[in-house]
Amino acid sequence: MKGTESSATPARIAAVDTYDIRFPTSRELDGSDAMNPDPDYSAAYVVLRTTEGGHEGHGFAFTIGRGNDVQVAAIDALRAYVVGRPVAELCADPGSLYHALIGDSQLRWLGPEKGVMHMAIGAVVNAVWDLAAKREGKPLWRFLADADPAWLVSQVDFRYLTDALTPDEALELLRRGGRGADDRAAELLRRGYPAYTTSPGWLGYSDEKLTRLAEQAVAEGFTQIKLKVGADLEDDIRRCRAAREAVGPDFRMALDANQRWGVDEAVAWTRALAEFDPYWIEEPTSPDDILGHAAVRRGVHPVKVATGEHVHNRVVFKQLLQAGAIDVLQLDSARVAGVNENLAVLLLAAKFGVPVCPHAGGVGLCELVQHLSMFDYVALTGTTEDRVIEYVDHLHQHFLDPVVIADGHYRPPAAPGFSAAMKQASIDTYTYPHGTFWAADAAQAAATAGTGTTAAGAPGQDTEVPV
Ligand SMILES: [Mg+2]
Repeated sequence: MKGTESSATPARIAAVDTYDIRFPTSRELDGSDAMNPDPDYSAAYVVLRTTEGGHEGHGFAFTIGRGNDVQVAAIDALRAYVVGRPVAELCADPGSLYHALIGDSQLRWLGPEKGVMHMAIGAVVNAVWDLAAKREGKPLWRFLADADPAWLVSQVDFRYLTDALTPDEALELLRRGGRGADDRAAELLRRGYPAYTTSPGWLGYSDEKLTRLAEQAVAEGFTQIKLKVGADLEDDIRRCRAAREAVGPDFRMALDANQRWGVDEAVAWTRALAEFDPYWIEEPTSPDDILGHAAVRRGVHPVKVATGEHVHNRVVFKQLLQAGAIDVLQLDSARVAGVNENLAVLLLAAKFGVPVCPHAGGVGLCELVQHLSMFDYVALTGTTEDRVIEYVDHLHQHFLDPVVIADGHYRPPAAPGFSAAMKQASIDTYTYPHGTFWAADAAQAAATAGTGTTAAGAPGQDTEVPV
């Protein structure tokens, strides 16, 4: 399709290609927590191809294995809305596609604005922002920071929000936030954006590995680590003690229960770990339980309450803020409906004065979300105080523009776009079930089971991506 139209014909979206990409992370217990003991980190990956060739738009939804095919099918269901759209119009107003997708009169029954369908919309909308930033030749954080505040406000859906945040208030926040942006962009380029690391704290790791990785985090310049908790209290006490001894008394140590508890249990369990001076307790209970989070917050003070990676949409974030239920807002780049909805969430957090410390890790979530925090610093809240982006050192090697961490800080991306593009070799290897890794794995399993099939001749036996 590339190059088939004359230059006089406006370029259009030619294809929406999707891929079910899964990494076998469960075999090393990377990413294990109290609710998700064996995740295979996965991406329902989408590529927008255009009739002009050259730039493509890349996006994805993150899942943890089974169900990634369902997530891909949800993205496929959006294809008819995207193919044929003029590229320049789409990139000038990504909100037009966002509105069309969340407003589909039949698909919205599957939500509305939550779950698999909403995450699919997020993948597609983020791919449009990637394409738009590439066409401007800017990394997304700078594309957003340079944008006219009135245009940014036009990209936000204020339906259900105006009791907490009006368009005029949003415009004022952005206008005020833009003052001094050049100086902050220079500071960002010099210093980077603060990160914290979850790598030491996965529940499946031994105490020795936990201690080693916690000490390493301090040595590498991080100022905060995070431990998974919630499976067994005695284990948590032992692991928190080991981690606190490893990092010392003045180092921030957050805890993450991944929705394991009811409200009363969350309060009791967090108090039982209070002697280790946790900085925040993350996802103490159901992500839908707004009043429950508020009760936990009252019950565990001065430990902070953080949540957001499973919050469906801007409306739930609004209520968490209105209810005084959280101290730290953990937006996720790929859970809600893309940059448009995350602009709303950033503006809400700014209005309520609650710091945003995004969820990341998984597959490519660090790559995406760094752009949102950097925009927030440069052109909205103007501060990194009490703000850190989660960092997990997994799977970055599969991306064309992987995150760069130096001295505990994210380096600002320089390449145009949203840093979402994966390497073709990684796609070819880890596409499920016919990519070379999974085909070989299935052949090996069949041989082991003695069903007469052997792995002989099957390509790619090792678990390392050959790139
Ligand atoms: Mg978490």
